[in-house]
Amino acid sequence: MNKQVKTVYLDNNATTRVAPEVVEKMLPFFTERYGNPSSIHSFGGSVMPEIENARRQVAELIGADFRNKDNIATEIIFTSCGTESDNAAILSALATQNGRKKIVTGRIEHPAVLSLCKDLERRGYEIVTIGVDGKGRVSLDDFRNAIDENTAIVSMMWANNEIGNIYPVEKIAEIAHEKGALFHTDAVQAVGKIPIDMSKNTIDFLSLSGHKLHAPKGVGVLYVRRGVRFHPFLIGGHQEMGRRGGTENAASVIGLGEAARLAKETMDQEVIELAELRDRLEKGLLERVPKIRINGDIESRLPNTSSVSFEFIEGESILMLLDAFGICASSGSACTTGSLEPSHVLRAMGLPYTAAHGTIRFSFSRYNTIEDVDFVLEKLPPIIERLRKISPYWSEK
Ligand code: PLP
Repeated sequence: MNKQVKTVYLDNNATTRVAPEVVEKMLPFFTERYGNPSSIHSFGGSVMPEIENARRQVAELIGADFRNKDNIATEIIFTSCGTESDNAAILSALATQNGRKKIVTGRIEHPAVLSLCKDLERRGYEIVTIGVDGKGRVSLDDFRNAIDENTAIVSMMWANNEIGNIYPVEKIAEIAHEKGALFHTDAVQAVGKIPIDMSKNTIDFLSLSGHKLHAPKGVGVLYVRRGVRFHPFLIGGHQEMGRRGGTENAASVIGLGEAARLAKETMDQEVIELAELRDRLEKGLLERVPKIRINGDIESRLPNTSSVSFEFIEGESILMLLDAFGICASSGSACTTGSLEPSHVLRAMGLPYTAAHGTIRFSFSRYNTIEDVDFVLEKLPPIIERLRKISPYWSEK
């Protein structure tokens, strides 16, 4: 990496910077307080109350219950990541739902859900994927028509990682329950960015991931509503109330608790500030660059995410030229077997290939500034112009 170039990090849906407050909370659990939380001795055992505190902090962020007699947030299970949480929820439902063999999910889900479903399909389960319209929206009627008495679980993400759309998961949960199906939501991109209150809905399972909200990588949560049967994914020791074996990742769990506390404290203000940055970027680009489109549901999307298609050029070329200025973003393509295919999300939306190929996702966090946006607005338009000049598709226009 060129050390001269300042990094302008606009890829926060991929991962976030660990908040300094979080690092500070975690450090003692690597150095002085490294004991095993399950120990009888107080050197290790004294870590357990810190883990329970983190559990309550996460519960508070998402409105989970912890006001029981022991004050323990039993609905929160710490896992290793969002992917594990997604897998654990779906596989648990297949184990507990008395022979039901069908899973209904969204076509624009993350691979943590979709690839698992593909694998389950090969193993004899029936998978139905619900499509989206041109703005990436789902229809509740499509869910009503797909869910039946054979459906074990419905899994629909709360917010999409590429386009930022927010989905009506609370309503979909009710539709699932009418047929006795369980409902899971992958809320990895939603938690910490928009208010979530599990006391006000009937969602059975929710996944979240530490590294998307300024906690470290390698820690996540599966929320399991009290009373919902759960079959563990990792079977081993008695940790996490017997629902997830493995010595607790104490430092990261405690870091995630602190990140959740910070998110709750700052969210109201942050939602406004992030949307201002996103809107400034989109307005600036629309003014400066012809033939672009903003993807997704402008009426209902995350405040921090902007998916922009620059027609007739390749997203990867844009990213490489942005990288030379220290600007980090993502493209809407997945590099499979050497050919750059537009992402499954953009394909599900039916974006023309000429637009899907040139799609860039910018995603903001609390650490971004107006100067970051203005830097992109200065550097990006000439890049687009330069690439279009050498694009065979553009010259045809
Ligand atoms: N679900 C969504 C919507 C995501 O965006 C991601 C990560 O990009 C994941 C799941 C996977 O989370 P993790 O990286 O913690 O496994």
